[in-house]
Amino acid sequence: MSIYADHNATAPIYSEVITCQHELSQLIGNAASLHRYGRYAQSVVEQAKSQVAALVNASPEQIFFTSGATEANNWVIKGMAFSHPGLRLAVSATEHEAILRPAEFVAEYMKAQLTLLPVTPLGRVEKDTLVDTQLTSIMWANNETGVINDIQALAEKIRIFGGMLHSDAAQVCGKIPIDFSKAGVDFMSLSSHKLGGPMGVGALVVKDPYQPLIPLLHGGGHQEGLRSGTENIPGIGAFGLACEIAAKQLDEYQSKTRLLRDSLEESLLENTGITIFAQSAERLPNTSFFAMEGVSGEMAVMSFDKMGIAVSGGAACGRHHAETASHVLQAMGVSNELSDQAVRVSFGINNSIEDVKAIVSAVLKISKQYPIQARRLG
Ligand code: PLP
Repeated sequence: MSIYADHNATAPIYSEVITCQHELSQLIGNAASLHRYGRYAQSVVEQAKSQVAALVNASPEQIFFTSGATEANNWVIKGMAFSHPGLRLAVSATEHEAILRPAEFVAEYMKAQLTLLPVTPLGRVEKDTLVDTQLTSIMWANNETGVINDIQALAEKIRIFGGMLHSDAAQVCGKIPIDFSKAGVDFMSLSSHKLGGPMGVGALVVKDPYQPLIPLLHGGGHQEGLRSGTENIPGIGAFGLACEIAAKQLDEYQSKTRLLRDSLEESLLENTGITIFAQSAERLPNTSFFAMEGVSGEMAVMSFDKMGIAVSGGAACGRHHAETASHVLQAMGVSNELSDQAVRVSFGINNSIEDVKAIVSAVLKISKQYPIQARRLG
């Protein structure tokens, strides 16, 4: 048996996208060259910009391709810190490491004044906690809990301060409808591999491309001089196609994954010792984050793996760190003990109700291996 339920870590690439990437990797043109090969390569970039823009309701000229959401996040935080000495910066406490680490970096080395914004017990950033800063970064939805922030309401409040808002939308793009133009955010980060595109590609969406950010990468002046480096044509073209496919199947994706997630949680709650995090919050339809009392997240993930089921203990990047307790749950006021026991199941459109049944039966088996009585004594 083999079940993949870790789509928030990375989603399987669509087969059409593999074909597209393979074909594009045989091209010989550099998008910066003036000859026909170069012009063709540039046309691939232009088409991909339109496809990405269509998925998030932005304009093609607002899209700048990067190596992923990590680069896009670093670009915004460091670019703003370069152009605004002593930058007043606020980021929410539940951000991905790809925001938290650059924010700490600019605070340590570039004299930025960093504020960590608290979240409610359901993991949302509330308008009242916003502070008057030049840049605020709040993720559209959290990668661990799936909790969705009201980005439009937060953007309205930030506009009153005259500040700018960046949103890391790596987890929402292709999972729920998002409207960049309506939300009123200044910058938004996207990641290709979270929505069925290849790894190592992403984008920064910039509200005003004519009053842009300071580049993070300087060089040959690619992408209007804002992001130098020869464009990754196969990756960018494939990302564009993945966005087009994701847009077409968005309704089906939402209804199918929501059904799977809700049925999983209904069954899980029939068992004692299960806590589901942020269940009553507005969440991504595919994500369930829960704890099995007495079983560490790491132990649970390894036990699932032995049964052929791929889930995660939280952010996939967590394994690069010695500590395992989720900083997201800790920021929500969950105890260290329970935070350490978190398991994330994140479905994709190809999971089935049989997969849900197998996951539930694996939970029962793991629970029997570590009966609560013994777990409490231990
Ligand atoms: N931001 C969030 C919310 C994520 O979940 C991830 C991936 O785990 C990233 C950023 C990093 O994205 P990428 O792998 O494209 O650099």
